[in-house]
Amino acid sequence: ATRIRRRIEKGRRWFSCEFFPPRTPAAAVNLVSKFDSFARGRPLFCDVTWHPAGNPAGDSPTSSTSVASAMLNYCGIDTVLHLTCVGQTEARLVRVLDRAKSLGLKNILALRGDLPEDADGNPGGASAAASGGPAFASDLVRLIRRRYGSFFCIGVAGYPAGHPEAASYAEDLRRLKEKVDAGGEFIITQLFFESAEFLRFVSDCRRVGIDCPIIPGVLPVQGYQSLRHIVKLSKLTVPDSMLRVIEPIRDNDEAIRNYGIAQCTQMCQELLQSGQVHGIHFYTLNRDAATIRILKNIGLWREDLPRPLPWQPSANYERCAEAVRPV
Ligand code: FAD
Repeated sequence: ATRIRRRIEKGRRWFSCEFFPPRTPAAAVNLVSKFDSFARGRPLFCDVTWHPAGNPAGDSPTSSTSVASAMLNYCGIDTVLHLTCVGQTEARLVRVLDRAKSLGLKNILALRGDLPEDADGNPGGASAAASGGPAFASDLVRLIRRRYGSFFCIGVAGYPAGHPEAASYAEDLRRLKEKVDAGGEFIITQLFFESAEFLRFVSDCRRVGIDCPIIPGVLPVQGYQSLRHIVKLSKLTVPDSMLRVIEPIRDNDEAIRNYGIAQCTQMCQELLQSGQVHGIHFYTLNRDAATIRILKNIGLWREDLPRPLPWQPSANYERCAEAVRPV
């Protein structure tokens, strides 16, 4: 296992992919087969989202750690574990971090997490710091640095459209700089639909003195309902230019998927051609077909490269599937 910071900046162009923890035993087995197929293209890293206990999504926090550990220890893929601090005590966060460390995980994406909503649907129904733990992602970054020094490579989240709760875009950039100054070593962005939006964000970050790597997070659109769901959750706006294409084909899944591949391919090509982007992060939604097509289209799928670790998927498959099985 390596800290990924250096590898993000150096060498070949690369991709990474995000997964969420499986919710059923069948989904666990399916997920391992996705690690297997993505590993062939040589991702620089994969990451696993964090779902706090009690979240309606229903995952236990240990399952994110277990998935990350399986990816790393059974599949040999460098791994980033997401961790959210909202509503958590410091003691609980330290327990998770100790476990991550003992499993060999060295990269953490430090996040606040979404606030529970109040009766009117506004965020902040219960204060983020009600638990006495870190209130913001920057506080979590400081906690990790204070307790673990430089053991973990820490990433943080950035928002090309500004975080929805922020008083302004400029204010959000200042808060992002605080996270980086506290010890954040790289930024992964929220998804966006136009390359210009990401490139503007990067130049705004540089202007305020944020000089760490900024990795664009992209979502291949894979279905009309799933796009609507994601956009609602992350409070994003789909550009009119996309809606004009999508709305007439909303009931045709195959047409939507093909559009998603074409749209994402073009956006990734623009990002790579800008000279500002070295690697691209994919929100896979635990699916492989569309993302792999796009990776092949843009030349980031590298089956030709030797593997850093001996790759024996079939030998490890059983143990790996067992390790990610939800409890
Ligand atoms: P913060 O950086 O703490 O910012 C939250 C808000 O508070 C912003 O509006 C910011 O401007 C403001 N702010 C920051 N510091 C201060 C301060 N000191 N005083 C006042 N205001 C402040 N969620 C999950 O539950 N699990 C995941 O695995 C997950 N992965 C994600 C991965 C990525 C790449 C991204 C972009 C998001 C992810 N999220 C995940 C969603 C994320 O938890 C939410 O967007 C959340 O609302 C904000 O998290 P943050 O870490 O950006 O928060």
